[in-house]
Amino acid sequence: MAVNARQSAPPPTFLGAGAKTRKKVGSLCSSCSPSFGSEDQAPEFVRGKLLSELSTWGIGGAARLFVEVRNREQLVSSIRHCREHNLKFLALGKGSNCLFDDRGFDGCVILSRINDMHENGCGRYRVGSGYPFNLLGIHTSKQGFGGLEFASGIPGTVGGAVFMNAGADGQETIEVLEAVEFVDTNGQTRELLKKQGELACSYRKSPFQGMPDLGAILSATFQLQPCPLSRDRQRDYLARRKQTQPVNERSAGCVFRNPGKGCQSAGALIEAVGLKGLRIGGAKVSELHANFLINTGGAKASDVLSLISVIKDRVRAESGIQLEQEVRYIPY
Ligand SMILES: Cc1cc2nc3c(=O)[nH]c(=O)nc-3n(C[C@H](O)[C@H](O)[C@H](O)COP(=O)(O)OP(=O)(O)OC[C@H]3O[C@@H](n4cnc5c(N)ncnc54)[C@H](O)[C@@H]3O)c2cc1C
Repeated sequence: MAVNARQSAPPPTFLGAGAKTRKKVGSLCSSCSPSFGSEDQAPEFVRGKLLSELSTWGIGGAARLFVEVRNREQLVSSIRHCREHNLKFLALGKGSNCLFDDRGFDGCVILSRINDMHENGCGRYRVGSGYPFNLLGIHTSKQGFGGLEFASGIPGTVGGAVFMNAGADGQETIEVLEAVEFVDTNGQTRELLKKQGELACSYRKSPFQGMPDLGAILSATFQLQPCPLSRDRQRDYLARRKQTQPVNERSAGCVFRNPGKGCQSAGALIEAVGLKGLRIGGAKVSELHANFLINTGGAKASDVLSLISVIKDRVRAESGIQLEQEVRYIPY
């Protein structure tokens, strides 16, 4: 694991509603050296941001503090700020795999909008953690590189995909991941390399999920292979997804992990016990895909949690299988 020198970062700024942005002009980085972003303004902390605005489910109360970071210096600075003030924090991407609590989050939510991408033309892409994963899937497929075709239907960020080891259609993130750069809770940047065995992942699991000193993922490097069929494959995957999943409704994708070899999928198990269409408050089991729980409007986290509990109980009672959640509940 490589450890880099600490980066200097400007101190954070606190903003009330309507406050003006403090801006400084930074130097542009070259495409072949690590990116420090094209801006170096201080990160701006906001109080009381509604988490429902930051999750695809549209659920969640307010965060005590919120900061959106656009480059690595701002991310490092925000993590250090949280550490110095003994504030718990959560690194967030698109919020497409998170269920926020109705009371919100009693800490700082750090939203990565680090959107830089560097490519060498040979299928190697180094991408900022805030880069949209679906766009990465489309871009790389269009360029004739295979391995991320599945990503075009996943509405998250690169950071979220790496953290979750996102996957679909028989592909998963780890397969094409070469390296991941992250900042730890001390504000040091470090890198994990697959070739050194540091990126051991399994179904929707990555080493980052159990890392006690993880601050946030900064960037990921992918190595893809030339594939003349990549664009057709990506389009096929996306078209099939639109037919089989409620992609235009508010959800967090599949709520439960598939139980594994020899078992039906979680969606099939839920359907088999007759729970499609079950509603609690504003939350409902999708009629199209039973592993999707939909916010039909005004759903609370408590509605979703109740639905999850009913589903688990019924599936366990009727099939003996204990479903486990894939979505991450973020407690207050
Ligand atoms: C319609 C729909 C379809 C979906 N289909 C799929 C699918 O086919 N396959 C699949 O695997 N998933 C799927 N998902 C779930 C979700 O999109 C993925 O898990 C995605 O990778 C999450 O990315 P995100 O940026 O939204 O992560 P978030 O929801 O923002 O975060 C998820 C977790 O990752 C952590 N995290 C996020 N960014 C960082 C960072 N920069 N540093 C450190 N930690 C971070 C968060 O703390 C959190 O614990 C789907 C979701 C929806 C709504």
